[in-house]
Amino acid sequence: MKNYIDFVADASWNTLKGLWVTLKFLFLPSITVQYPTEKIVPYPRFRGMLAYDAELCIACGMCVRACPSRCIALAKAAPPPAPPPAADGQPAAPAVKAGPKIEWYTIDYGRCNFCGLCEESCPTKPKAVWHSLDYEAVFSTREEMVRRWKRGDGPWGTVKRSADAQPSAISDQIHIQDMPVRK
Ligand code: SF4
Ligand code: SF4
Repeated sequence: MKNYIDFVADASWNTLKGLWVTLKFLFLPSITVQYPTEKIVPYPRFRGMLAYDAELCIACGMCVRACPSRCIALAKAAPPPAPPPAADGQPAAPAVKAGPKIEWYTIDYGRCNFCGLCEESCPTKPKAVWHSLDYEAVFSTREEMVRRWKRGDGPWGTVKRSADAQPSAISDQIHIQDMPVRK
């Protein structure tokens, strides 16, 4: 009989201890999030999906050389045409001073190891290529892993859904920066 009473007392004490832990955390703010409707915004130094600004880029190729995985490629745009010759007696039109620009730029996420060296080596201020806070990306084909940019494209670039498809804008990726910051 004594053993039985000891057993009941012990079990009751342990149950109360467990309930006390539950009670302690019941009124604290929750730590878990309701993913995917709620997302945690990473710290600012987080290295997420790369974004790129074709207007800022000066096509210097530093990121291509810095990348240890050889996943960046670019082509420099042809220089703008020379100004027309001056008409008789008229001063020549001043040449438009424009830095080099890209024809196209690609990043292959199938090879990228998110090391950040491309961003570090980029000489523009602000950086023309940089890690966003975005940690969500889904690829269903090898082709989709290659992001492509031309001048006028947004920071997320475009993607070819299959080898013979035309590049289309990224529309199905959720960008963490767009999510409300969790308080
Ligand atoms: S993060 Fe590293 S591996 Fe990825 S593109 Fe940049 S330099 Fe290359
Ligand atoms: S992204 Fe930066 S480092 Fe790469 S080519 Fe453009 S300016 Fe140069």
